[in-house]
Amino acid sequence: MESKVIKMNLMLIVISVLIMLNGEIINAKLPRLKQKTKEDGSLSLLVVGDWGRNGDYNQSLVASQMGIVGEKMDVDFIISTGDNFYDDGLTGVHDPAFEDSFTNIYTAPSLQKRWFTVLGNHDYRGDVLAHLSPVLRKRDSRWVSFRSYIVNADIVDFFFVDTTPFQDKYFVETKHTYDWRGVIPRQRYLSNLLKEVDEALKKSTAKWKFVIGHHTMMSAGHHGNTIELVAQLLPILETNNNIDDEYISQENRVDLYINGHDHCLEHISSSHSSLQFLTSGGGSKSWRGDVQQWNEDELKLYYDGQGFMSMQVTQTELEVMFFDIFGNILHKWTSAKPDHYSS
Ligand SMILES: [Zn+2]
Repeated sequence: MESKVIKMNLMLIVISVLIMLNGEIINAKLPRLKQKTKEDGSLSLLVVGDWGRNGDYNQSLVASQMGIVGEKMDVDFIISTGDNFYDDGLTGVHDPAFEDSFTNIYTAPSLQKRWFTVLGNHDYRGDVLAHLSPVLRKRDSRWVSFRSYIVNADIVDFFFVDTTPFQDKYFVETKHTYDWRGVIPRQRYLSNLLKEVDEALKKSTAKWKFVIGHHTMMSAGHHGNTIELVAQLLPILETNNNIDDEYISQENRVDLYINGHDHCLEHISSSHSSLQFLTSGGGSKSWRGDVQQWNEDELKLYYDGQGFMSMQVTQTELEVMFFDIFGNILHKWTSAKPDHYSS
């Protein structure tokens, strides 16, 4: 009898751990992590995407420039917008690509902070469970990888969204195989995720709200707009953006959608809302000259070379900058929030 009870308890513990590790398994809430601000309440960070190529295609040059800018800004953490390991993700938890493309590349002291990552389509071509495994955090304590999650940093809530399962083409193409463990059944996975993101955005009381995914929402680059995200995720961001409810103040609007996937640096300012689309996908190989026509009033930056993005955030101000591998500032954009929105 006693051993039966112990067995039952053990089973409950295993189930709880599974829920914690894979939030989507039984419709559990998105994992939430805490991030401290600086003592003055501000935050600074870098954003890089599409990078893991053993240092090749200028990945190492981007990394050293990130180290220099990161030190000047005293960054609190780094965001990776995905496609972390080319071409086919990680082969397992002991894949040397983890050191060759991450640990041994981003070596600057200023980059020894947490790296909040999302999965890209190339990461889904490897062992996804290895990419998400806590074993990687033992190999490099900076590494943070979940499918979708929230980072609460006082003045900013960061919503990381797993965008690869949205795109239809990965489910029909035969050229590559994708690791859909934890995603199938797909429709349930996507509808749960959209519901969770919508609810979390509505509940968020942070001054700023940034949503991060791998895939483009709006882009003049190679991949262009991702129609599935425009149809399914964008309305949620814009609903929460334009919300006019006395109980949910204007503070709840989404300010930025940040992505990689297109190998460029790009800023599109929506003409429909205050939402800004920022692409930081210049972490290694870039696609020179691969750009489509776009409304000039909306396209604030398109740079088809390597580089990364920085952000500085206070209660009332946001400053975004894009850097090339030489440390030149390619574009700077600032936004302010009036004090009367503060609670
Ligand atoms: Zn991609």
